[in-house]
Amino acid sequence: MPERDLLMIPGPIDVDPPVLRALSRPPLAHTSPEFIEIFGSTITALRDVFLAPQGQPFVVAGSGTLAMEMGVANLLEPGDKALVINTGFFSERYADVCKRFGATVETLNAPLGDAPAPDAADKILSQGGYKLMTITQVDTSTGVLADVRGLAEVARKHNVLVVVDGVCATAAEEFRQDEWGVDVCITGSQKALSVPPGIAFVMAGPRAIAAFEARKTPVASYYSDWGLWKPVMQAYEQRKPAYFATPPVNLIFALQVAVQQILAEGMPARWERHRRLSNAFKSGIDALGLRQVPLSPVIAAHTMSAVYYPEGVNASVLGKIKAEGVVLAGGIAPAIRDRYFRIGHMGNANASDILAALGAIERGLAAAGARVDLGAGVAAAQRSLAQTPATV
Ligand code: PMP
Repeated sequence: MPERDLLMIPGPIDVDPPVLRALSRPPLAHTSPEFIEIFGSTITALRDVFLAPQGQPFVVAGSGTLAMEMGVANLLEPGDKALVINTGFFSERYADVCKRFGATVETLNAPLGDAPAPDAADKILSQGGYKLMTITQVDTSTGVLADVRGLAEVARKHNVLVVVDGVCATAAEEFRQDEWGVDVCITGSQKALSVPPGIAFVMAGPRAIAAFEARKTPVASYYSDWGLWKPVMQAYEQRKPAYFATPPVNLIFALQVAVQQILAEGMPARWERHRRLSNAFKSGIDALGLRQVPLSPVIAAHTMSAVYYPEGVNASVLGKIKAEGVVLAGGIAPAIRDRYFRIGHMGNANASDILAALGAIERGLAAAGARVDLGAGVAAAQRSLAQTPATV
């Protein structure tokens, strides 16, 4: 089997060779000075990725779902009220996680492909008594981008803690944790951070830490307890050895390289690159006459696209696209699972990847018997890219 297939699912994503090389070096002792330097400096650097100068980073072995748990398990106590802004499957998962930690959960829903407006959240939060609100910045099931800034502003007004699931957004979509008043942002390594799966991240702001310290009951999850991890994270930053549970040392080597690359590009430049590639990809999709799941461009993610199959085509087209060298993902939003597919274009994705993916989609659709104007999607993407030349 060829190893050159272009992996363009919305996570895990393709990983750059220097990151892979870092992963393959022999493990170091997690208490060795060399590892302490790598991990300590990387923990510190993460504040610049989240734009959370006052944040307390937690970096632990686990997937994004663990990060989701770790984001709320330390804040919620039995009987607390939580509001979940629902933009799809992963928002609903957050509702389940909050319930598991004893919260009474209200979900603010929107029609499929739409995003609840801050005003609607304001109405619910005005009833009072809410401890926390979750927002999925990009719900990977629908490709819907939530208005984190507007929603967080409303929550702040009501003194409600804001927890953002940035698994499909962090390090690609514009996000300014401190400035926007977000208390916790969680993510995983396998998406726009451009590292293989296996690291869970939580960035907790000062209000979140204060709420944690004011708890009356112990955290129900042992592994997720900020109280057990915080001294370890702080020790690494102070270049001292510490241990609670073994860090994924090789993944941390990879993370160090990836974070250096991300910060060398710069956050605004990175957000802009993702916008440029997403706009180009979506112009190609429009030119092929395909409809997207997000109901309007302003609520469409820049990290991925969710696209309906044309009439007469089903998920078997993904096999034909794979035969053309590009791996895409099927649907996961239960109501439309078999009617759409998903494309990731985040991390180190570049203009050539966008064109390659559109070309493979065109040929795959043609092979599936759909009427396709071959080249129309690629040409539209080319025009879009040429209008906004690459800056780097
Ligand atoms: N939240 C979002 C928005 C996601 O896209 C995902 C994974 N696709 C998760 C949470 C869960 O992450 P993981 O699969 O790494 O547990």
